[in-house]
Amino acid sequence: MTQKHAWVFWRRYSTIAVFVALSATCPSIFGQAAQPKSLTKVDEGSAHIVLLGTSGGRTSWRGVQAAGISSAIVVNRQVYLVDFGAGWLRRYFQAGLGAPPPSRGLESLRAAFITHLHADHVVDYPSLTLFGASDGLGERKDPLPVFGPGPRGSLPPISGKSQGVASVVAPENPTPGTSELTELIYKAFATDINDNILDSRKPNPHSVIKAHDIKIPRSDLIDPNADDEPDIPPLQIYEDENVRVTATLVSHPPVYPSFAFRFDTKQGSAVFSGDTSPSRNLIRLAKNADVLVHEVIDTAWVDQLYPKPRTAAQEAKAHHLVHSHTAVEDVGAIAQKANVKKLVLSHLAPADDTDARWAKAKNGFQGKLIVGKDLKWIPLR
Ligand SMILES: [Zn+2]
Ligand SMILES: [Zn+2]
Repeated sequence: MTQKHAWVFWRRYSTIAVFVALSATCPSIFGQAAQPKSLTKVDEGSAHIVLLGTSGGRTSWRGVQAAGISSAIVVNRQVYLVDFGAGWLRRYFQAGLGAPPPSRGLESLRAAFITHLHADHVVDYPSLTLFGASDGLGERKDPLPVFGPGPRGSLPPISGKSQGVASVVAPENPTPGTSELTELIYKAFATDINDNILDSRKPNPHSVIKAHDIKIPRSDLIDPNADDEPDIPPLQIYEDENVRVTATLVSHPPVYPSFAFRFDTKQGSAVFSGDTSPSRNLIRLAKNADVLVHEVIDTAWVDQLYPKPRTAAQEAKAHHLVHSHTAVEDVGAIAQKANVKKLVLSHLAPADDTDARWAKAKNGFQGKLIVGKDLKWIPLR
């Protein structure tokens, strides 16, 4: 090649060459995500938290990117799921948690846990019960265990004055727990399930999922309308070769029972707060954990959402948001009292803002603060 030809060649192709080189070295400049982690790419003996959905509340946040609340902990390439918020099943695969082909995917799921029965935590539980068999649960030897709250036992009191309150649904059984919820899903979808059993020779869902109501000792002595967070020691609810799972009651009135879960592994420990106002039981459960995934709300946002004067319905909703959740100003002190190393914010309310809104979560906390994002993998240590 002559000098002139070389110059023409360089002018023609140098832009492409520089682009390719930069793309290889700085993928984030060009909007490409960093190489995602997945079950097949993490070390066999590692343990991570994976945030599947980080938004809180019974809303789609006008289509904002965050999915509904759902988290996973991955230990020795086995997955343990906490809550079934909107979109968890797609997120499960997008996060790289699916067992690789020829598996169908959910073969990697070892057990699942439901913190409480507010719809934002279970709205896509039917995705597990109805699609699970096709996505890999059908190949399981033993049913997948799902642990969640038992029945509340009585309706909560009316917030504020009783005028104008709508009539309740299912008055004959108004507060079913996890086992009943599962059975009621099967009943509601019996047309589809029976079609699949008879026509496609799919398994009966009872053979692939086993729902358990978490038993609370001396539960007959607890009046949830008087105290939804009685002082109880952590309850062990599950154990296998990878994890030991303990639960405690947290304060999320009027919901009862509402649980936080702790996962202890050889590679570290992680706690999921579920929905709670500042909770002494949670601080005890989370003591010295490596990671605390805690819900958070910005109460200034609640004031903007429901300016005064408020209707009775607006006042009741604002009261619930402020008194049944944990304000961003308080969550750092909780993490510090528990002496955790990393605080991960999730169940964000609002879910459609920048990280700057959550800066106050660092108040009083000396460890590492992480604002949760969907699909983020966080090592326990
Ligand atoms: Zn919630
Ligand atoms: Zn809730």
